[in-house]
Amino acid sequence: MARPSPLEVYGLLDKSNCGDCGYDTCMAFATDLLERKIRIEDCTHLMQDPKQKKNLKKLREMIMPPQKPVRIGVGERELTIGGEEVLMRHQLTFYNPTGIFVEVPDTHGDLAKVSKYLTEAAVERMGEKLTLDGIALRCVSKNAEDFKNAAKKIAENTNLPIMLCCLEPEFLIAAATEIKNVKPALYAATKETWEKVGTFAVQNDLPIIAVSPSGDLDELMSLSATLQKLGSDQIILDPGTFFGEGNIKLTYDNIQQLRIAAIDKENENAGWPVMGVPAAYWTQYDIEGDEEEIWKHKYQEIIMASIMIAIDTSLIIIHTGQEEEDIWALLALVTLRQSIFSDPRVYPTVDPGLYEIGEPGPDAPVFVTSNYRLTKIPVEIDIKGANLDAYLLVSDSEGIGIESAVAGGQFSAGSIAESVKEFNVFDKVDHRILIIPGMAARLSGALEDEADAFVLVGPRDSSGIGKFIDKQWDPKKYMKEYEERKE
Ligand code: SF4
Repeated sequence: MARPSPLEVYGLLDKSNCGDCGYDTCMAFATDLLERKIRIEDCTHLMQDPKQKKNLKKLREMIMPPQKPVRIGVGERELTIGGEEVLMRHQLTFYNPTGIFVEVPDTHGDLAKVSKYLTEAAVERMGEKLTLDGIALRCVSKNAEDFKNAAKKIAENTNLPIMLCCLEPEFLIAAATEIKNVKPALYAATKETWEKVGTFAVQNDLPIIAVSPSGDLDELMSLSATLQKLGSDQIILDPGTFFGEGNIKLTYDNIQQLRIAAIDKENENAGWPVMGVPAAYWTQYDIEGDEEEIWKHKYQEIIMASIMIAIDTSLIIIHTGQEEEDIWALLALVTLRQSIFSDPRVYPTVDPGLYEIGEPGPDAPVFVTSNYRLTKIPVEIDIKGANLDAYLLVSDSEGIGIESAVAGGQFSAGSIAESVKEFNVFDKVDHRILIIPGMAARLSGALEDEADAFVLVGPRDSSGIGKFIDKQWDPKKYMKEYEERKE
C-alpha cells in the first residue's frame, strides 16, 4: 500500500487553519497526523461538523495502516499495539513497540502488592524511563468468583492495561463485566467460544484475542473473519507459542507469516496486531528442580521473549518478572526493545548547551562532550555517579559520537571553541580549564589556542571520570600553568 502524502491528507481536512488543534495550519496537522504524533480526533472540525462526515470516513481509511492498531486500557498508560506499515524497521520505522505484559495467576497471595510492583517497575536508560505495559491475569483457580475478584483487585491497584486470560467464556465475561471501564483485553476467543466472547467484546467495545491453540493459521484467519463479521474492530491474533525441538521455528514462522500477510499482502484477516506468549513455557514442561534448574528455565522463556521482540511481535506475555529478583529479565527485554524500536530516521541527539550537574560552584570542573545522545547521557550519569558538582558542555557534533566526529571534523577545536563562547562557559567559573574526552586528545593543542583555555585530557571512558577528578583536579595548579604559558 502506497503511503499517503501530507498533501492528500490535507485535501480531506477543513483547510480553515483555525488553530483549534494547536497547529497554525491544517498542513502542519496533516504532516504530524501521518507521523502518528496526533490523532484524527484532535481536529475538532472534522469530528464535530456533520458536513465533514464523508471526509472523516475517507481520512480514516486513507491513514489506516495495513496492520491495524489496537488500544488496550485507558488513561495515561493506555497501550497501542500493532499499526505497523513495514516489515523491516529500516524501510520506514516501527511506530508501536512490543507491549510487555507480565502474567499473574488469580491465586496469587498478594495481588495488590504484585500489581503495584509491576506498575512501578522501571529502568532508566539513556534518558528514557522504560516500563512494563500491562498485567495478564490468568485464571488458575478455575473458579468464576475468584477470577472476578482478582480482576477487581488488580484494577484497583494499577493503572496498567489489563488482559483477562481464561478459556472459560462465562468466567471471562463475569470478570470483564466487573472491570470493563478500564478496557481490558479478553483472552480468548477460540473456535468453540468465539460467539459468546466476541458478542460481549463487541457490545462493550473491548479488544479481543483470537487464538488457535494448535497454531493452525487457517483456523486463526477464519476466527478473525468471523469476529469481524460480528462487528469487532479490535482483534489481536495469537498464533500460539511452542517450545521444544522444531517448535521455536514454527512459532517464529507463524508470527512472520501473519506479519507478511498483513503488511505485504494486505490480507484483511491477518491485518491485526500479533501476540506471543513466552509464558506458555511453564505450562508446556513439567518444571521441577533446584534454584539453578529454575533459573535455566527462566532463561529459556526470556530467550523466546527476546526473539519475539526482535521480529516486532506486537505484544508478549511473560511469566518471569513477577518477582523483584527477576528484574534482570525485565531489564534485558526493555533494553532490547528500546534499541529495536528507535526511529532510524532520527539522529539520537540532545540539545547543545551548558548543563549543570549537581550544584557547581566557580571551581567546578567543565567537561566537554558531543551532542550524540548515547554519549551525553552516559557521561552525565557517570558524573552524577561520581557525586561531582560539575558543568557539562555539550557541543554540536551533528549527533555523531566522539570518535567518529573527531575523525569527520564535527567535533573539532573550532566547534568546541564556538560552544564555549556561545554558552558563556568562562563566565560561570573562575578558571579557564576544559576537560575533553580521551578520544579527542588530539584536539587539545588547537583547542587551547582557539578557546584561550587550559585543556586537560580526560579518560577515554567516562566511567573513569570519578577517579580522574580525585587524582588530577587542581584548578589552581592548572591556572598557574596557563598564566605562565601566556607570559
Ligand atoms: S483543528 Fe482541523 S481545521 Fe483547525 S487547523 Fe487543526 S486541522 Fe485545520
